[in-house]
Amino acid sequence: MSQSEIISANVGGQPVLILKEGTQRNTGREAQKNNIMAAKIVSESVRSSLGPKGMDKMLVDSFGDITVTNDGATILKEIDVQHPAAKMMVEVSKAQDDEVGDGTTTAVVLAGELLSKAEDLIDKEIHPTVIVDGYRKASEKTLELLKDISTKVDPDDKNVLKKVAIISQISKLLADHADFIADLTVGAVLHVAEKTAEGYKADIEDIKVEKKAGESLTDTRLIKGIVMDKEVVHTGMPKRLENPKIALLNCPLEVEKTEFDAKINIQNPDQMKAFLDEEENLLKDMVDKLSSSGANLIICQKGIDDMAQHYLAKKGIAAVRRASEKDLEKLTRATGARIVTNVDDLSSKDLGKAGLFEERKIGDDKMAFIEDCKSPRAVTILIRGATERIISEAERSIHDALCVVRDVVRDPRIVIGGGAIEVELSINLDEWAEKESGREQLAIKAFAESLEAIPTVLAENAGLDPIDIMVNLRAAHEKGEKWAGIDLFEGKIKDLYKEGVYEPAVVKEQVVKSAGEAANMILKIDDVIASSKTREGPMPPGGGPPGGMGGEDLE
Ligand code: ADP
Ligand code: MG
Repeated sequence: MSQSEIISANVGGQPVLILKEGTQRNTGREAQKNNIMAAKIVSESVRSSLGPKGMDKMLVDSFGDITVTNDGATILKEIDVQHPAAKMMVEVSKAQDDEVGDGTTTAVVLAGELLSKAEDLIDKEIHPTVIVDGYRKASEKTLELLKDISTKVDPDDKNVLKKVAIISQISKLLADHADFIADLTVGAVLHVAEKTAEGYKADIEDIKVEKKAGESLTDTRLIKGIVMDKEVVHTGMPKRLENPKIALLNCPLEVEKTEFDAKINIQNPDQMKAFLDEEENLLKDMVDKLSSSGANLIICQKGIDDMAQHYLAKKGIAAVRRASEKDLEKLTRATGARIVTNVDDLSSKDLGKAGLFEERKIGDDKMAFIEDCKSPRAVTILIRGATERIISEAERSIHDALCVVRDVVRDPRIVIGGGAIEVELSINLDEWAEKESGREQLAIKAFAESLEAIPTVLAENAGLDPIDIMVNLRAAHEKGEKWAGIDLFEGKIKDLYKEGVYEPAVVKEQVVKSAGEAANMILKIDDVIASSKTREGPMPPGGGPPGGMGGEDLE
C-alpha cells in the first residue's frame, strides 16, 4: 500500500497533507493482524522455556557475551525487540517481574494465547471491542475465583515458605541447589520482615546481594549486616573496629582542583614549600574535623587523597572510598548514619552505629563487612560460585526466590502449580460464562480456554502428550480434585498439594492482570501511525522509508 495515499486527501484538486511525508500508517484489520502476529511471535519465543522441563535459551549480545537462562523476563530483556506490539509484550514480563518477581513466562504465554484466540474471534466477525469487554469481565471474574480458591497459610511458616522458594527454583539451571537457595532466602526474608498491625511488611530492598567469584555456590552465605566489595584505602588503617562510629560522606576528601588552568608563579623553593604546605593543611584540617566528630570509620562515595589517607591512618581512622550511592543509602538505613555532603557539616549526630567493622579476604579480594548494625534488618547475601556465569544465574535465581517468599510473607495465600490452578480457574470461569449471553460469552469462553495453555505447554515441554494430559486433568477437576496437576517428572496427574507444588496466589493474580491488560491494549489498537526517522535529503525513488510495510521498523 502506498503510504502517501492514506495520509493525504484531495480537496478541490489540492492535496491536503495531514502527516509528514514518510510516515507509515497501518489501519483496521491489517494493523490488528500485524500487532497480534508480532505479540504472538514474542510469546512463542518463550513458550518452550516454561516449567521445570522447559528448555534454556542462549542469548548472545552485541559484544558476544553469552547468557544462558530460562527466565522469561531475562530472555525478553536481552533480545532487542523492534515491533511496538512486541515491545508491549516485553513490558508484560517486566511488569510481572517488578510486581511479584515470578510468573514472567506464564504471563507472556497467556497473553499470547489470549491474542491468538482473539484473532480467531475477529475472523468470525466479532468486533474487537466486544472481545475487549469480554476479556475484561473474564479477567475480573478470574481474580474473584482466585480469591476463593487460594489457600491461606501462616506468613512465618518456614515449611510453606521453603516449598514456595523451591518451586520457583525448580525450573532454573541451578535446580540442584534449590533446597540450599530456599533455606538461604527464607532466612533472609524472615530476617527483614516486620510485623505490623495489618500483617507482615517485607522489603527485599533491605537485602543486599553481593557477588564474589571463587569457592562454590554452597559457600554462599547470609550475613547479618552490610558487605561491600571494597577495601580499606591505606595499609596503616585499622582492619577491624569494634563498635565503629560511622560517617557517610558523598564529598571527596581531596583539595578541589580548579576547572581552568591556573598559572602559579613560583620563584624560589620557599614559595613552593608554602604552596604544598597549604594543600596539606587543608587536608589535615578536613581530617581533624572528621576526627573531632568522633568518627572512626569513613565510608566515602568519592575519592580520598593520599595525604588525607595518611593523616586518617595516623589517627587510627579506617576509610573506604568510592562506595556506591546504593551502598551509602543501605548504610543509612542499616546504621542510622546520615549522608553528609560537606565535611564542615559533620557532627556526632550524623554518625551511625554497628557492632563490628572488619576487612576480610574473600577469594582473591578484600571486602568490607559492617555487622551487627543498629537496624537488625540489614542483611547481605554474599554469593559465591566457581564462574561468573554460575554467579549471575545464581543471582537471578536468588532474586526470584526472594520475591516469591516475600510475596507469601506479605500476602499469605498460596495456590497449586503444575497447571492445577489454571485448570480449576478455567472450568469455573467457563461455567460462569453460561450466564452471559451472545458474543461476549464467546470472548469469556475464549479467556477460559486460554488459561489451559499453561498446563498444555507444561506438558508439551515435558515431552508428554498434551491432549491426553488435558483430558485426564479436566476429568480429575470435574470430579472435584481441585489441586490435581501434572507431575511433570512422572508424567501423571497427581494431587500436587500433597507434593508441595506451592506458588504465591499473588503471582497468579498478577499473571491474569498483566496478560489480560496487555492483550486488551493490543486488541484496542486499530491504527498504527509511525513517524519516519527524520533523514535529510531527498526520498529514494518509489517513496517511503526503507523497511517496507507491516509495521516493521516502526521505531
Ligand atoms: P515463570 O517464568 O512463569 O515462573 P517457570 O519456568 O518458572 O515460568 O515455570 C513455572 C511453571 O512451572 C508454573 O506453572 C509452575 O506451577 C510449574 N511448576 C514448577 N515446578 C513444578 C513441579 N514440580 N511440578 C509441576 N509443575 C511445576
Ligand atoms: Mg518461575
